[in-house]
Amino acid sequence: MGIPVSQMWTVATYVLGQKLAGRERYPLVLMLEPLFRCNLACAGCGKIQYPAHVLKMNLSPGECFRAVDECGAPMVSIPGGEPLMHPEIDKIVAGLVARKKYVYLCTNALLLREKIDLFKPSKYLSFSVHLDGGKDEHDFSVCKEGGYEIAVDGVREAVKRGFRVTTNTTLFDGFEPKRVREFFDEMMALGVEGMMLSPGYSYDKAPDQQHFLGRARTRRLFRALLSNRRPEWKFNMSPLFLEFLMGRRQYKCTPWGMPTFNVFGWQKPCYLLQDGYADTFGELMESTNWERYGTESGNPKCANCMVHSGYEASAVHDNFTTWRGFFDTVKATFSRYRDSEALRILEEPVKAVHAPAGLVQLTMKHEAAEEVEV
Ligand code: SF4
Repeated sequence: MGIPVSQMWTVATYVLGQKLAGRERYPLVLMLEPLFRCNLACAGCGKIQYPAHVLKMNLSPGECFRAVDECGAPMVSIPGGEPLMHPEIDKIVAGLVARKKYVYLCTNALLLREKIDLFKPSKYLSFSVHLDGGKDEHDFSVCKEGGYEIAVDGVREAVKRGFRVTTNTTLFDGFEPKRVREFFDEMMALGVEGMMLSPGYSYDKAPDQQHFLGRARTRRLFRALLSNRRPEWKFNMSPLFLEFLMGRRQYKCTPWGMPTFNVFGWQKPCYLLQDGYADTFGELMESTNWERYGTESGNPKCANCMVHSGYEASAVHDNFTTWRGFFDTVKATFSRYRDSEALRILEEPVKAVHAPAGLVQLTMKHEAAEEVEV
């Protein structure tokens, strides 16, 4: 597994502590968005569509520390926007590392080489580099030719300097699983610690609304990607969450598991939806009507969601609070998932279509028929 033992131990003791304290709802990862500005305009992103005055706003280091202390989660993910564009990102990261939080600084790496001297390698800090597949797929996804080479150069530099580096890949409809598997090989050869994967969530503000995956197609794609896997591949994720993506197990959403704090306050109910804001973490937990969310709730906004910010905390809870979850995790960690049907899916023909940005995107032929299941 691509997660250091010290981090797993911290998370395990934290989750068990919550269970012993009888807490039904607790945060696992704080999603801290210190800004929405970005130096890319990705077609599948729902975060950069704000008016200019909002895009200029930054959370101060003090506001970030108050949110982290209030929330108490052992891990902090810093997405955005592009966090390396924040003028005080070094102070924010240093303050979180001093608090012994495991920090994932999510970056498109366009500025990584330029800003890397602002940071020191630490077991608490990981650069989580956004790479949506190989060169063609990534450049299409981020709408920037040459984006892949710059990101890979950033990964190389960070690995060379002794930083923890993970990759963060969002998969959309039309991704060819064989190519994505080659991409896994390329990333492991670069020396990254582990890879993170997520199906794209259908942000209603995202410019490209055509390539989001529904639940059935997500399971089919992840089954093809992650079955018959190579032993060298390491994933910086819960093995049970990966089984959830492959359609091998069911979980209910726990949106409070990865709460979001940004320039507007505590976002209700999760990283993806914006049904209002709370001033404090306590108010978020108390005043959100959690029953309205998750696939089983019937909320149409949740119908096709399988993303980590809703479901990975459910898998981690299962892992550390039940013997069954623990043994399933051990088994999943060593399983290669032999699956002849998945091999067959990999061999299915693909057709090339022309993407809006002029880049060639490959798409699976038989996609449509399955888009029903929830
Ligand atoms: S199902 Fe997805 S969109 Fe709905 S609350 Fe959970 S994480 Fe948010």
